[in-house]
Amino acid sequence: MHYVSTRGQAPILTFEEAMLTGLARDGGLYVPETIPTLTSDEIAALAGLPYEEIAIRVMRPFLGESFTEDEFAGAVERAYAGFGHAARAPLVQLDANHFLLELFHGPTLAFKDFAMQLIGQLFQVALARRGERVTIVGATSGDTGSAAIEAFRGLEAVDVFILFPEGRVSEVQRRQMTTPTESNVHALAVAGDFDDCQARVKDMFNDFPFRDAVRLAGVNSINWARVLAQVVYYFSAATALGAPYRPVSFTVPTGNFGDIFAGYVARRMGLPIERLVVATNQNDILHRALSCGDYVTSAVAPSISPSMDIQVSSNFERVLFDAYGRDGKAVAQVMEELKLSGGFHISQGALQVLQETFASGRASEAETAAAIASIYARTGQILCPHGAVGAHVAQSYLGATPMITLATAHPAKFPDAVEAAIGIRPPLPNRMADLYERPERVTSVANDLTVLEDLVRERRGF
Ligand SMILES: *Cc1c(COP(=O)(O)O)cnc(C)c1O
Repeated sequence: MHYVSTRGQAPILTFEEAMLTGLARDGGLYVPETIPTLTSDEIAALAGLPYEEIAIRVMRPFLGESFTEDEFAGAVERAYAGFGHAARAPLVQLDANHFLLELFHGPTLAFKDFAMQLIGQLFQVALARRGERVTIVGATSGDTGSAAIEAFRGLEAVDVFILFPEGRVSEVQRRQMTTPTESNVHALAVAGDFDDCQARVKDMFNDFPFRDAVRLAGVNSINWARVLAQVVYYFSAATALGAPYRPVSFTVPTGNFGDIFAGYVARRMGLPIERLVVATNQNDILHRALSCGDYVTSAVAPSISPSMDIQVSSNFERVLFDAYGRDGKAVAQVMEELKLSGGFHISQGALQVLQETFASGRASEAETAAAIASIYARTGQILCPHGAVGAHVAQSYLGATPMITLATAHPAKFPDAVEAAIGIRPPLPNRMADLYERPERVTSVANDLTVLEDLVRERRGF
């Protein structure tokens, strides 16, 4: 199993190398050379298995020789042991044919734990074997950072630096990043928005002398291993509802296109997914791109679903690569256009390919709040604003095929928005009830590459 860059100019890597590398050296993203498929019988056999067993069967074909059976099984076991629900990703029913996939039972209460906990375990195994030490740098709109810190805190072979937009993450998100006491954790509050944070991380990766000196590794949603870990719950949910004998659809609250791209991979692997619905908040570049082909950035408008306040959607490049017939030159060209002029037009042929798989919709701030209120009134289920964006958009696509909407975070992570919608402040689960009392440790930094690189070098002792 080999991994190639979406821009066609970077070295071809193994799974382990792609995982440790993150962003490809040509600025592209790593994708598998070919997508393995599961037969209908293999998919049917997943129904009712423990989550960990489904995870091993779904991911194994992508790993090549990178990990032994025992190494991988051990990593999967440890990754999900700390989850607060035995099913890991339980389904609940909202309506006759509408289901909610609860992805918020991990240690930081958002779906990103599914991938990050596994990546932490796999990094540990790989780096210990290689006798290496790496610097992890990531940008976060809130949930990635806390999930990364939770996954890597205290690991010998790793320093983890997380850039988050100062004042634009929720208090719970901030505290989850600033309260760990381990000395290998560095929370950096950047004077800028999420796109600035993401751009500075990309700049660091593109500064090769720096990248090599500090042995930079990325765990943002551009990391292929993260996408792969998220493919698993599409299989567990779909088979629980009758796949492969009955097709299902998914609605996915989307920002960086990582989570929904995992659904696309599941579909390419043979899982009968009828439709993948992209749900955006008022920052609706993906909805505009998928409905009319114009991928045009504008300023980020802060919303009550801040983890999706994104204009440059990194993982979209992966699906464009397929839509453009896996032509790395064409992808490099539109990405250059995006960088120079802030947008590009998706070719007619590519748009047609995308629209065969994806539908899309957006939820305004008022629609998001109304969805939290109406679902609570009808079912007693309290959604976080991201899940509510999904549930609102899913309404337009309900029909004969079961719809599964991804609930990406626990409502207690966004208590202000939930309280404004229904007058109830959702409590944190017991295991993290003292979060508001723990002391915080954070460094404020300018939105400036040189300042950031100096800080990383200094903390790493260079
Ligand atoms: C990160 C995040 C999203 C968006 O996921 P992408 O993979 O970036 O599309 C949605 N909801 C929550 C709660 C998140 O943390």
